[in-house]
Amino acid sequence: MNNIIAGNIRKLLDELPSGISVVAVTKTRTPEEALEAYRAGLRIFGENRVQEMMTKRPLLPDDISWHLIGHLQSNKVKQAVAAASVIESVDSVRLLRLIDAEALAQGKCTDCLLQVHIATEETKSGFSLEEMAETDWRHVSDSLKAARICGLMGMATFTDDREKVRSEFRSLSDLFSRMRKQYFTGKSHFRELSMGMSGDWRLAVGEGSTMIRVGTLIFGERIFKAR
Ligand SMILES: *Cc1c(COP(=O)(O)O)cnc(C)c1O
Repeated sequence: MNNIIAGNIRKLLDELPSGISVVAVTKTRTPEEALEAYRAGLRIFGENRVQEMMTKRPLLPDDISWHLIGHLQSNKVKQAVAAASVIESVDSVRLLRLIDAEALAQGKCTDCLLQVHIATEETKSGFSLEEMAETDWRHVSDSLKAARICGLMGMATFTDDREKVRSEFRSLSDLFSRMRKQYFTGKSHFRELSMGMSGDWRLAVGEGSTMIRVGTLIFGERIFKAR
């Protein structure tokens, strides 16, 4: 039993307000490390690569909900739909439609979050705020057969400037509230705002996050950068 991982999780859960979900980001971690997080009570695991999710998933208990949190290429949609319960990194309507068609073919319902680009770094992917504003999400949502739009995901700029991070999270939170009123009234499944990582989760929670995605805080520093 690795008491460090269990201790880190206990500390996080003690401080996290109730009702907020934790995605344990297991990218680059061994199945044994992931299992420690499971034993400490976590049931949502995040991977940013489909291949890594596919190799790890069969080695771990089946009641884990796997979230894909990294960019998904269209040629991997089939595997992603098979392996993930939630795809948090949907960054185009075209990708959403491919996921929908594949989920239908596999007889599944796939929950999706729309990833929005709120950071100033070019490297991070996602819809721009302009694209989000130009799209009629009610129309898109109503046309889906087996995929569901369950909320938004975003990553803030990697910086020590707390006010900048806070204002980026606030812009995502505002968008989330507006979309809920404008396009998803009466649709209770549109309810997740996935924002906040190891370094900025408190700020994200302060701005209304419903789901944080943490790796380093639980498992320690990653030795190999995933990207
Ligand atoms: C790696 C990753 C995380 C977790 O990062 P930490 O800083 O280790 O908590 C969260 N979200 C996404 C999309 C990631 O790729």
